[in-house]
Amino acid sequence: MNENGLGRYNRGGTSLLMLMVAGLLTLGPICASVSEDLSNINADVIVEGDWLVTMQPGQAVIGDGAVAVKNGLIVAAGPRQRIATAFRARRTIDGEGRVLLPGLVNAHTHAAMTLFRGFSDDKALMDWLENYIFPAESAFVNDEFVRVGTTLACWEMIRSGTTTFVDMYFYPDVIAEIVDQCGLRAVIAPAIMDHPFPGSNGWQESFDIAVDFIKRWQGHERIVPAFGPHAPYTVSAEHLREVAVKARELHVPVTIHLAETKDEFAKIQSKYKLTPVQLLDEQGLLGPNLIAAHVIWADPADIALLAAREVGVIHNPTSNLKLASGIAPVPAMLDAGIAVGLGTDGAASNNDLDLWEEIRLAALIHKAHNSDPKVIPALSALRMATSSGAKAIGLGDEIGVLSVGRKADMIQLSLKNRPHAIPIFNIISHLVYSAKSSDVVTVMVDGKVLMENGQIATIDEAMTLENVRTINHAITKTLP
Ligand SMILES: [Zn+2]
Repeated sequence: MNENGLGRYNRGGTSLLMLMVAGLLTLGPICASVSEDLSNINADVIVEGDWLVTMQPGQAVIGDGAVAVKNGLIVAAGPRQRIATAFRARRTIDGEGRVLLPGLVNAHTHAAMTLFRGFSDDKALMDWLENYIFPAESAFVNDEFVRVGTTLACWEMIRSGTTTFVDMYFYPDVIAEIVDQCGLRAVIAPAIMDHPFPGSNGWQESFDIAVDFIKRWQGHERIVPAFGPHAPYTVSAEHLREVAVKARELHVPVTIHLAETKDEFAKIQSKYKLTPVQLLDEQGLLGPNLIAAHVIWADPADIALLAAREVGVIHNPTSNLKLASGIAPVPAMLDAGIAVGLGTDGAASNNDLDLWEEIRLAALIHKAHNSDPKVIPALSALRMATSSGAKAIGLGDEIGVLSVGRKADMIQLSLKNRPHAIPIFNIISHLVYSAKSSDVVTVMVDGKVLMENGQIATIDEAMTLENVRTINHAITKTLP
């Protein structure tokens, strides 16, 4: 939090200061703080869980717990009985047979690419990108495509328990309008590149669009506007520097694809005599406001540099496996103290936005890759999708942990009568190795319910289905 209590990127909404004025923060941190004499404090809603997974360091799980919410913020989290005694809420969301945890953070995606799901599979990144995806985007992507594709993505993410995502794509105002309407939280980065793409004729126009977008949306309570230079191989060094300077001036994050393939590493080496990570450092881009996706081809010196500059790194295991880009050195990055988050990447290279699959793969592939089953234990994998992911995208003081003063972004999974979920010895093990996205039944962002008992409140599913069919039909018609 900064001195205004409004977080790193200076959004509006209810501030910690307001809560302190209301006397609620005197409860202090988590469960032990709910004192018996503070009975009947008003709350908007209490959410319960047979297991409360707070992701607090040192106290990740509380049995039979609850969280009290007021004005979109968590005002208490702890044992259910103590919360029930201390607070009088307008409503309570029952937690029987349910686990309550922070909403998931999908820290790298291209939401509207849901409409290219399954469009082109089983190819290497450069072939896939240059011969299939870029041409398809220039043929089909317009503001309506982004409106429908982003709505479909938000529907899929809400249903699977993602409450915050980092998006890099075209027509950013359309993306922001959809996020505003559906109630999710997002860092939205207009893609900017040297060559023309949908909605822009090249660098200068795309840069100007990004600056205008940032100025228009800065201050929104759930949307953090950002810069999205696509990659070091699609944006010149000079332009990367321009982004670094402007992002510092506007006080916004930057997200980029970095060191994704061996090919990129070789290209950057031969052009600049630097690694991709060193190139970004030379241009002034490495810093706490950088969200770097992939970072597979990074040597120990690169990793040390990323750690020293406090860069957030986003691991995308499914996309990296599918495009055979490689396996990111995540254990070494965690050892170096880097905040590592998880992303699905776009649905054209995944092919879904199910973060539970990324959690499980992050916990599994590094064990095999390092011949060590102790690497990335279950709790570390879950941290990447919650607290560490939040930190990696610059929202570590606001979301990712269920504790007093944080935004009320949380989800419930129902494990009741589900054969894949019994018996239960260790709830963290369950969430990482057994849970399915279809177990998610409740989704709340900023204290507002976006899904309850599996029913989504903020998206017109029938209309979205119809719109997706229409666009799918138009694309299919043009294919040989
Ligand atoms: Zn990507």
